[in-house]
Amino acid sequence: MDVLNTIQKLREELNLHNYNYYVLDNATITDYEFDTKLKELQDLENAHPEYFDAHSPTQRVGGAITKNFQTVAHTQRMYSLDNSYSKEDLQDWEVRIQKVLGDVDLEYTCELKYDGASISITYENGKLVRAVTRGDGFQGDDVTNNIKTIKSIPLTLKGENHPDKFDIRGEIILPFAGFEKMNQELIEIGETPYSNPRNTASGSLKLQDSTEVAKRPLECLLYFVTGEKLPFSSQFDGLTAARNWGFKVPNEAKLVNSLQEVFEFIDYWDIHRHNLPYETDGVVVKVNRIQHQEELGYTAKSPRWAIAYKFKSEQVATRLNSISYQVGRTGSITPVANLEPVQLAGTIVKRASLHNADQIEKLDIRIGDSVFVEKGGEIIPKIIAVDLTKRPDNSVPTEYITHCPECQTQLVRNEGEANHYCPNFYGCPPQIIGRIQHFISRKAMDIEGLGGETVALLYNNHLVQNYADLYELTVEQILPLERMAQKSAENLVNGVKKSTAIPFESVLYALGIRYVGETVAKKLAKHYKNIYALSKATLMDLVLVDEIGERIAQSVVDFFENEENKTIIERLKSYGVQFEIIEKVNLNATDKLSGKTFVVSGVFAEFSRDELKKAIEDNGGKVGSSISSKTDYVVAGDNMGPAKLDKANKLNIPIISETDFMGMLNSN
Ligand code: AMP
Ligand code: ZN
Repeated sequence: MDVLNTIQKLREELNLHNYNYYVLDNATITDYEFDTKLKELQDLENAHPEYFDAHSPTQRVGGAITKNFQTVAHTQRMYSLDNSYSKEDLQDWEVRIQKVLGDVDLEYTCELKYDGASISITYENGKLVRAVTRGDGFQGDDVTNNIKTIKSIPLTLKGENHPDKFDIRGEIILPFAGFEKMNQELIEIGETPYSNPRNTASGSLKLQDSTEVAKRPLECLLYFVTGEKLPFSSQFDGLTAARNWGFKVPNEAKLVNSLQEVFEFIDYWDIHRHNLPYETDGVVVKVNRIQHQEELGYTAKSPRWAIAYKFKSEQVATRLNSISYQVGRTGSITPVANLEPVQLAGTIVKRASLHNADQIEKLDIRIGDSVFVEKGGEIIPKIIAVDLTKRPDNSVPTEYITHCPECQTQLVRNEGEANHYCPNFYGCPPQIIGRIQHFISRKAMDIEGLGGETVALLYNNHLVQNYADLYELTVEQILPLERMAQKSAENLVNGVKKSTAIPFESVLYALGIRYVGETVAKKLAKHYKNIYALSKATLMDLVLVDEIGERIAQSVVDFFENEENKTIIERLKSYGVQFEIIEKVNLNATDKLSGKTFVVSGVFAEFSRDELKKAIEDNGGKVGSSISSKTDYVVAGDNMGPAKLDKANKLNIPIISETDFMGMLNSN
């Protein structure tokens, strides 16, 4: 088959899977299959730059860096919405409408109000051309590169009858699940979690590196199509059209004929909004017929034909009993409010986040205060205000702790950082325990038979001081511990022993170097290949590695300069822990291929083209760039070009598969 044809087929196929997964929430292929196909497409596009297409699904992984976002004027102004807070407000609104339109049959589209960052996306001839933030409503920032990484936004439209040119408006949001996953990852590497989905979503739009944006589980929910010659005459039909063109338009939207039904919609969602996968702070009611909308027009700020109804956020008042301070694995201090238990949005709330010292000072929160607690998009509720009228006479301002509650070391707070932290990295119990817990966790050393609580138990019984000590534990030592039976003690020791088979990249992650999460660990492992090379890397070397910034680099350098870390690593090495990457290919530098020249062509199942080339060179062979009489073998994968095939045949050069090639390497 001809290459362009293959490329186009793959693009269509991947687009469809993206659509099924991200718009319809209905996966039709495994992640693995998807990645394999995407890689196949990427390899073909790399080999054939002439077929580059800015709308190919390969463009979604990001890569473009935007240093300065260009300001662009909106083709049509992006208005705000008037707010209403009661049913009377809505009745007044209807009266104002009837004054303009007279006695007509009114239809309303009711939609949920999504809480994120608004965006206007321009399509021309069925292709995404530009995405602009709301800005001041007249002009915004061009964030096209970032928006293209959001998989639920079509780069190429589906269906038919889309206008040659139109803008579509929507809200970029972070669903709760994705937000929590992002925070989990931050907590794992010892960083401060984000405070709420909306700010995180809107902050994402202005990230300079689109690869970062691609990693965030953002979504775009669309609610308005604008342009000339639109193939529909009402808001509701506009939503349906957008849905058919491949956009994610929530199905909750409802067409109704009376204000009474609008109220029913509001009442329903006031309760059920808590079950939605994303945050909504109200309902938007829109006069349905475009003809009516045009007659009503706009005020200086907002359309007269639409209005937002804001849900009352659920708040309760309760007493602040005490403030406790938690010390994280990296020493970061988090103040937590302990509240008199109270019912809120269906759950009993006992604790609330206080974020940091500034927050406490800003709210002037004191023990004994009556405080208002609200549940937003956060995992744990937050305190929004203090009821000063109820403040006890003898109340004293809260003084933030100056010393670590766990080890009494004086706390430090770095310039520009919100959190205090305990600098006693090697002596502060929760930091030591936290590091060992991280070390044994599933994505790190994945030690079977050992859990977080047992780690604390081991530490408190002076059996381990650091993660290297785990490898010297004996069954006899563990048995006397609470709830430890012979069998579980054996499992623990065996689990530790088995972890010596865990690959280097996971070991590197397990070490718990600050800012070195899973992805960074992989990058570093791949680049440096072994711990020795990594430990010798300077700040300068490190920042040259793809995706490694100065902050990570400095943290790596600091880690390896520390004497205690050096000893621990030497010890781990002596127990057999992996400190070298194991490559897929036999790279034990043989000279089996010496004197032979290979040309590599096509796409391979087991290896990337680069891996194959490396294998050839590491085993003494040469890699040729094109087929000539000097070529000894052509290693052919799928989709090898017909011209190359022809040439190899003419010159009588053996064409071998990747399996044949592996056979050559493994033969004696
Ligand atoms: P406000 O920012 O309070 O003036 O509210 C207006 C904003 O609500 C718009 O700019 C949109 O970004 C956002 N919004 C969220 N959901 C909808 C929706 N279904 N229809 C219209 N606007 C919406
Ligand atoms: Zn401490």
